[in-house]
Amino acid sequence: MSDFTRIEFNAGDGKPLFFLRLTPPDPYRGPVMLVHGMSVRSNIFNPPVARPLPHVLADAGYDVWMLNWRASIDVEPSDFTLDDAAVHDHPAAVAKIGEVTGWDTMKALVHCQGSTSFMMSICAGLLPDLPKVTTVVSNAIALHADVRTLMDIKMPFAMGALRHRVDGMDAQWGYHAPGFWAKVTRSLMLLHRECRNPVCRMSSVVYGAGWPVLWRHENLDDATHDWIKGEVGWAPIAFFEQIQASLKAGELVSTGKYPLSVLPLRFASQMPKTDARFVFMTGSMNRCFVPTGMAATFDFFEKVAPGRHTFQKMHGYGHLDIFLGKDAATEVFPFILDELNRE
Ligand SMILES: [Zn+2]
Repeated sequence: MSDFTRIEFNAGDGKPLFFLRLTPPDPYRGPVMLVHGMSVRSNIFNPPVARPLPHVLADAGYDVWMLNWRASIDVEPSDFTLDDAAVHDHPAAVAKIGEVTGWDTMKALVHCQGSTSFMMSICAGLLPDLPKVTTVVSNAIALHADVRTLMDIKMPFAMGALRHRVDGMDAQWGYHAPGFWAKVTRSLMLLHRECRNPVCRMSSVVYGAGWPVLWRHENLDDATHDWIKGEVGWAPIAFFEQIQASLKAGELVSTGKYPLSVLPLRFASQMPKTDARFVFMTGSMNRCFVPTGMAATFDFFEKVAPGRHTFQKMHGYGHLDIFLGKDAATEVFPFILDELNRE
């Protein structure tokens, strides 16, 4: 990570967050913010492959800002929901990029729960006017969650059986499960004999239905599959409850913690307060959130502004292998670059 500069800032509620920034000699295309998903960290965009995404973007002239928001395993854990990130993290992150770079426009690439929380923020009109976010590439899930049935079984298990017993779920329990209920959850790893990587197997217990869930083994090289052991960790139960509520509602919902004047209750039932261009993408074989959810979000935006936005399924990819795959630099990143470059 020696190429990256650490830039610290505080979220709107004072929580310390930070960026890892990769700036090329001539960042003529301006800033792009990369936002990771749940229970990982910004480093998830930087696997040990020859051409990871941050370097591809920097070589193309982008000033790359990898955000560690409150879901990062490198940030002090808290019992947060997507609401907290939408209200406090993303507006402050965008403002910080503007303050440091002086640019009055920027772009964003947001993944999974980094995407849902960012979409909540931008659709509720909570981002600063400057710098203005003009293009958003959203991967895996945006305003509509859709899963296969097995995940529906797992999530009530997590909340019904474990609420008030554990405060979160942790893929690192694959190595060490502290306490009775963590050990009970860990025992579900017996269902996952698809590889010998304890964190890969435990992440499949936590995040959906698939063997494995978060990537297709075929798409990862051995070094990246091994590296993942240190990259997936803890997520709060409160977050799983919010996704469960969103599944029931058929669209992303807030928790009601903040006034309706700040965050609406439902996010696909009102006009988004943004004129950014959105690129919705997902792996055709995503087993964490199936592609029909992303298609529903595209349909929603297509009705708002026909012909303006894009939807793309990446053939043969799952959830995170979109960024981690051994061939992502040739099969996925050119699409991302083309869309970011489009005016
Ligand atoms: Zn594995």
